[in-house]
Order: sequence, then structure tokens, then C-alpha cells
Amino acid sequence: LTDRLGGILDRLTRRGALTEADVAEAMREVRRALLEADVALEVARDFIDRVKARAVGVDVVKSVTPGQMVVKIVHDELVKTLGSEAQGISLAASAPVPILMVGLQGSGKTTSTAKIGRRLTTREKRKVLMASLDTRRPAAMEQLAMLGEQTGVATLPIVPGQTAVQIAKRAMEAGRLGGYDVVLLDTAGRTTIDEALMAEVVEVKRAVSPHEVLLVADALTGQDAVVTARAFDGALGVTGIVLTRLDGDGRGGAALSMRAVTGKPIKLVGVGEKFDAVDEFDPQRIANRILGQGDVVALVEKAAAAIDAEQAQKAAERMRKGQFDLNDLKEQLCQMQKLGGMSGIMSLMPGVANLKKQMAGANIDESVFKRQAAIIDSMTKAERRNPDLLKASRKKRVAAGSGAKVEDVNKLLKMHRQMADMMKMMGKGAKSGRGPLAGL
Ligand code: GDP
Ligand code: MG
Repeated sequence: LTDRLGGILDRLTRRGALTEADVAEAMREVRRALLEADVALEVARDFIDRVKARAVGVDVVKSVTPGQMVVKIVHDELVKTLGSEAQGISLAASAPVPILMVGLQGSGKTTSTAKIGRRLTTREKRKVLMASLDTRRPAAMEQLAMLGEQTGVATLPIVPGQTAVQIAKRAMEAGRLGGYDVVLLDTAGRTTIDEALMAEVVEVKRAVSPHEVLLVADALTGQDAVVTARAFDGALGVTGIVLTRLDGDGRGGAALSMRAVTGKPIKLVGVGEKFDAVDEFDPQRIANRILGQGDVVALVEKAAAAIDAEQAQKAAERMRKGQFDLNDLKEQLCQMQKLGGMSGIMSLMPGVANLKKQMAGANIDESVFKRQAAIIDSMTKAERRNPDLLKASRKKRVAAGSGAKVEDVNKLLKMHRQMADMMKMMGKGAKSGRGPLAGL
């Protein structure tokens, strides 16, 4: 992909808005990358249509080619589709919280059950009980019992002759009596989806009303991912996906397929056979992998940096003119939010490192940006241009209007003052051609 894409990028160096031809050309390569990564055909098609529509007409920033711009848009959309926020397993229900593990045979249900059991025990200090409802494979229950011993997680004593539903009920009862926080129910799977099996799992679900139904799926599944995801989600209404064998050489297309078909978050990924080989899902990493590793990622990063730099330059121009008002601050806050924290614009401005540290020290995260933007929204136009107009009574009103404290309003104003002062200073330097912003 990289060579092909590189060739196209070299040819497309014109500036301006992305044309349909630009997008179509780059998209042909993206399509190939998706299919090579084993994204299901229909999912790849939908995804490309969506991104195409989004990309045409987007301005190409000065320092990147249209091809790079398209790849950047594809990458961002891919991350967004995969789910930009990590979502863990939810335990927000009354104990013992039942969690049902479902999936095809060999997908990694039993292994994942043990991994999750251990994770909840060690990381979240929960008391976990694991139970195997696999009455089909002779050694299945012993397998879980053994994993329980290795991980130090309790397992339900095996009683031969019980049905899956009976075991599930017994597990919940034992969970209640034993004061467990979580009961993990590992189910049986077949090599292909069969109705009898599905009916059994549906019955188990009805019997225990699980808080989470986790579909365990093999990342190497490829095109079948869609069929599996649809079948299980349709019958059971899964609440999340556990993607196993991401340590393998599959390129992660199943992640996109499953996510696109079910709309459910990928909650954890398996990255090996050992019981600590489990990670949170990282959409960025999977997006990179799907698009074909290394070089495309470098292209994307280069494009992203160029985009940031261009935006920073625009902001810097205003600042140089001493025009940094609260509207600009708000724009910057939104920008930071979009760029995922302080790593964006601020870091591109020489001399801002100290302020950045100071702000990061104040524990600024996305919700803080949002709150600060809300405070600015509650001000009048005149106040946004000239914050000195904000006297005590108005500060109170602004705070009330944005659901913040007066203290927060003061903090925001102070931050703005510091930034404006610093920018004025840098602006002076820039005029003489030697300041820190001169190179921007
Ligand atoms: P189940 O039939 O769904 O219960 O699948 P198992 O949990 O028994 O796993 C089947 C095989 O896949 C076992 O050999 C596991 O060690 C292996 N396995 C499970 N998860 C992973 C993973 O994330 N990476 C690798 N490499 N192997 C895994
Ligand atoms: Mg099993």
C-alpha cells in the first residue's frame, strides 16, 4: 500500500479543496488496504462511501498533498468508527453482577473469562466467581477450574449432569451466598453458529439477566466476522466485544467489521495465551494496523502536524496583533479538546511550554475544556472581547449560567490574561524578526 500510495501522493501536490478525483484516487488504495486487512466487504464499502462524502471539498492545508489529506481523513474516521473512547467492562449493577461470555468455539471465551476474572480481581479488587456452562466439551469445565487455580480466581464447583441454565442459576446463587461482586459465565460454543446452541444461550440469558453480554471473537476471523457478530447480536443483544488473538498477524479488520455491524464497543483485546495477555482496546493502534502500519501512519502524522501548524499559524497571527480575546481562547480550548489534550497547538508554539506544563499540572482534561468553553459561552459579546468588563456581579451570573463556580471563572480569566500577556511579548519579538514566533 505504501508504495502505491506514495506514488499517488507524489503526483497530487496541488493545493486547494479536495476534488472528487483526488478522493476517488486515494480511496481506491484505501479500499485495497481495508480488504487486505480483512475488513468485511460490505463494511469496507459503507465506510468508504461515508468518508468519500466527508472528504470532498475539505481544504487541503498548505504543507500536505491531497492524497495525504485524504489518508488523514480516512484515519480519523477509522478511529472514530472504532470508538474513540476506551470503554471498560461495566460493573454498575447490584452484586453479584452477572457477565455472560458468548462466541464461537475456539474464539477464546474460556481464556478471556480467566483473563477478565484476574483483571477484575487484581486491578479492581473485586471478588469474582467464574463458572463454566460448557456442558458439551468434556474437559471444558476442568479447563476453567485449572485456569481459576492458576489465576487465583474462584470457580464454581463442578456438578455433573446439570444443564447450562441450571449451572447459571447455581452460579448466581453461589455468588449471592458467597458475597461475590461479579459472576463470570463462560458458555459453550460451536464451530459454526447452530440454533440449538443459540437457543441455549438465550435461555441462560433469560435466566440470569446478565449486566454485560460479551461477544468473544477471534481477530483473525476475517470476512466471517460480520456473520458471527450479526448472529450473536441479533439473538442476544451483546453489550460489548472482546477481540482475541490481536497478537497474531491478522491486521485487525475484524475489529472494524464487528464494530460497524453491531455498533457495540470493543472493550478488551486478547494479545496472547497467558492470562495477563489482555489490553484495553486502542482504536488508534488498530486504525494504524488496518491502514497498513508504519509508513501510512507516518504520512498521517505528518499531515496532522502540518494541519496543526497551519492552525497555530492563524492563531499566532491574531496574537501578534495583540487581538487574543476570549473568543480566541474558546477556539483554542475547542481545538485542544479536538486534538486530545495539550499536545496540539500549544506544543507547536515555542515558548509556551511553561504555560502548558502549568495547565497540565492543573489537571486539565477534556471535561475541563468543555466547562471552560461553557463559561465563555455564558458571557456577552462585549465581555468576550474585553474581559475587564466582568465585575463581581457579572462573574456570579456567568458562573451560574454555565454551571460553574465564580472561582472557575476567575481561574479562566487569569489563564487568559497570562496567555494574552505572553503572546503580546512574543508578538513584539516577532515584529523585530527574532521572536519565538518568527519562524512560524
Ligand atoms: P473457547 O473455545 O472460546 O473457550 O476458546 P479457548 O479460551 O479455549 O481458547 C482457544 C485457544 O485460543 C487456546 O489455545 C487459547 O490459549 C488460545 N487463545 C485465546 N485467546 C488468545 C489470544 O488472545 N492470543 C492467542 N495467541 N491465543 C489465544
Ligand atoms: Mg471454552
